[in-house]
Amino acid sequence: MILRSIRNKMLCNRTAEQIIIGGKLCNIIENTWVLRKQLRHTVSKLYQPKEITPRDKLETVKKIDESTSRSSRLMKEYGITKSVGNGYFALLPLATRSINKLTKLIDKELENVGCQKIFLPHTISADLWAKSGRLHGMGPELIRYKDRHNKEMILCPTHEETITSIISSYELSIKELPLKLYQIGSKFRGEMRPKFGLIRANEFIMKDLYTFDKDLDSAMDTYHQICEAYKKIFDRVGVPYQRVEGDTGIMGGSLSHEYHYPAGIGQDLLLWCSECSKGRNIEVEQNGESNQVCESCGGKLEETKGIEVGHTFLLGQKYSKVFKANFLGLKGKPETLEMGCYGIGVTRVMAAATEVLSTETELRWPRSIAPFSICIIPPKTGSKEYNTGVGIMEQMYEQLNLHFQDDIIIDDRDKTTIGKKLVEADRTGYPIIIVIGKKSTLAEPLVEIQIPSALDENLRKMEISPQHAVQFLQSIKSDFS
Ligand SMILES: [Zn+2]
Repeated sequence: MILRSIRNKMLCNRTAEQIIIGGKLCNIIENTWVLRKQLRHTVSKLYQPKEITPRDKLETVKKIDESTSRSSRLMKEYGITKSVGNGYFALLPLATRSINKLTKLIDKELENVGCQKIFLPHTISADLWAKSGRLHGMGPELIRYKDRHNKEMILCPTHEETITSIISSYELSIKELPLKLYQIGSKFRGEMRPKFGLIRANEFIMKDLYTFDKDLDSAMDTYHQICEAYKKIFDRVGVPYQRVEGDTGIMGGSLSHEYHYPAGIGQDLLLWCSECSKGRNIEVEQNGESNQVCESCGGKLEETKGIEVGHTFLLGQKYSKVFKANFLGLKGKPETLEMGCYGIGVTRVMAAATEVLSTETELRWPRSIAPFSICIIPPKTGSKEYNTGVGIMEQMYEQLNLHFQDDIIIDDRDKTTIGKKLVEADRTGYPIIIVIGKKSTLAEPLVEIQIPSALDENLRKMEISPQHAVQFLQSIKSDFS
């Protein structure tokens, strides 16, 4: 009681420049400094539970679990994701940051072509799927359950039925077309054998977009426009990809393309032209076509295994007819909408990209979706260079933070050596590592910048003055967005 009254008195009596933190009266300047430091990302506070396989056990681990891919093993070892059941994964903070960056990137490109973001429920009545004829077509991959009223429900692997039934409940005016609605959220598929971590999981995050047009011509225009947006998305992610003609499969429809990351563990076999890079997906069973010649340019066709990360479909009226999804035409009569659907496996892009880029022991991320672009390693607490080094770090941090906002992590652990921090930062895969070591005390101080995945070998390890380091990193900022 007494304490409270003292505190109240302090609150009332403080000057405009003062504020109370933890019962202490502080100056605003000092306080802003404290708060800003609290907002920083630090390795000591990061939840990153590591389970690293000793190198001599690596071969055994790989043999025991054939379903484990390199990326899923490394993500588990470095506390990026955590398996919580067969085919179900928790995204820990570093994975979540990467997914958030990818989400932002996709949002931007889709908004640029007039797509609107929505959110659909994960579960829906099985009746809707019976109506479209897909309830039995998918077999046990479709996860079904009964609710408390004994009504059969499904966990959606995709949302054509949900969105088309919504659209059918209001008659659209021709002025509202084309209409492009998308969401980013969990999808479900009961895999017989979940494999390769998030590459083939029972629950995964997908971006799914549904488009509605007045006629086939305008649906084709929309299709090409979305394919352009996909090009920008995959270019910005930055991992080499192959776009091939796809199989329309269970979706139905007339035209489709697939986007693949070429990888040894890929489940699809692609036949593509090395000249004009046109190609198609020839499922794994149809072999022996490798001597074929490209129909478009006569170039030699090559085979690659690919991980599918995106798919586009021109659906036509397959769903809109069944659900009576109409618009009011110019003659004032209801006409059937032309649809398209477009997917990107968001968690799969993250997993497949790291699968393609990583080494056996080091995670490698595309720069655009690395959990943090920069990791700063200050001198060890109590070392001779500590005070000078920390001063340099503070200055560099403030300047870099202007360009790499919310994208820098400091390894502030005080009982870990610089060497160990460096190994861990490299293996976690931060694209830029700044080490402030002994040379920071020189009359003309030097810091070390490491960009382990740089193509130019000179950039992989540089000793440079703090000012030049900041200028250089600011100049390559555009590679990281
Ligand atoms: Zn060709």
